[in-house]
Amino acid sequence: MYRTKRLETLLSEAEKFARIMDDRNEMREELVSLAEKLGLLKPEIKELPDFCETVRRIAGKNQAFALSLVANAMSHFSLQLSKTELDLGLSGFALTEPGSGSDIRKVSTRFENGKLWGVKTLITNAELAENFAVLAKSGDKYLLCFVERDEVLVRKLNVSAFRGCGIGVVKLRGARAEEVVEDGVKVASSVLNHSRPAFSSVALGIAERCLEIAVNYAKRRKVFGKTVFDLQKLKLAECYAEIEALRSVIEKASKNPDPKNSAVCKLLAARTVKHVADCSVQVLAGHGLVKGCYVERAYRDAKAFDVGEGTTEIMKLILSKYL
Ligand SMILES: Cc1cc2nc3c(=O)[nH]c(=O)nc-3n(C[C@H](O)[C@H](O)[C@H](O)COP(=O)(O)OP(=O)(O)OC[C@H]3O[C@@H](n4cnc5c(N)ncnc54)[C@H](O)[C@@H]3O)c2cc1C
Repeated sequence: MYRTKRLETLLSEAEKFARIMDDRNEMREELVSLAEKLGLLKPEIKELPDFCETVRRIAGKNQAFALSLVANAMSHFSLQLSKTELDLGLSGFALTEPGSGSDIRKVSTRFENGKLWGVKTLITNAELAENFAVLAKSGDKYLLCFVERDEVLVRKLNVSAFRGCGIGVVKLRGARAEEVVEDGVKVASSVLNHSRPAFSSVALGIAERCLEIAVNYAKRRKVFGKTVFDLQKLKLAECYAEIEALRSVIEKASKNPDPKNSAVCKLLAARTVKHVADCSVQVLAGHGLVKGCYVERAYRDAKAFDVGEGTTEIMKLILSKYL
């Protein structure tokens, strides 16, 4: 669906802006517009494998933009999973609060008389989102509420990973909610099962690009009369195997995004991208630590896969239930 000529344009524009987005910690509106024209801002759950493949390709050019698309997809998935009709633009999916992250049932945001009160933090797309899906409590019920950007206050965070995807704090001081979905925790958990393969595809795209850069560099660079490739090819071969394994588990999870498959791919995605980014920087050595190059950004971004969309510990907790 997304494999059109326009996607090629999006990929080259995404690559062009990657460095400046990282430098300035700022999303580019041109990229959001291009993604909208491609239908990438309204992904369908039934096309999850195709969406995963597309964000994988984008991540190889621009990691932060790929993450922005995955975060946006979460709100759209929540509508489809709850059979709710709503016209969303670029959106943020707001679960995390200053006082609650992994334990989403501990949210303290309240929904009372059609208004939301609370603070959400670390929200991807906060900078440019037109709307937010917000997990809140009303009495002892959990709800997913949709709010327009004009109703909230946003403060961007100066993050070290995924700079440019507009991660920020969203303050809800009496924000009017447009539409409310019951069973908020159930819907949010199901959204995460569907978004984890996509998030893992971002890791896959990053790992692939890092390996490509490292192999090319290693084959050209000579030390002590040999190429770095001759000296370090075994390490790079190991990365290759890890990437192929990750590709398989993502393929499985994107076709069947149940809690187990999604946790497996997210756990392995974090491990793989951290190791591959680390090896790639090591191969490029000093040159891999210069700001502005892809592997340097990737090295910073890789750690975020241990945290975002449920931490590595939470993935292990999910998987321990299947033992
Ligand atoms: C790049 C990025 C983008 C993000 N985008 C969004 C977004 O769009 N929307 C959103 O809502 N959030 C977003 N987040 C926030 C992310 O979802 C949370 O950081 C994450 O869920 C963890 O929550 P926390 O940071 O509050 O850590 P905590 O939940 O406080 O955890 C602290 C530590 O305790 C560990 N821990 C927690 N429970 C257990 C347990 N039972 N057993 C063992 N260890 C445990 C954790 O693994 C972690 O190591 C983003 C984060 C990142 C890094």
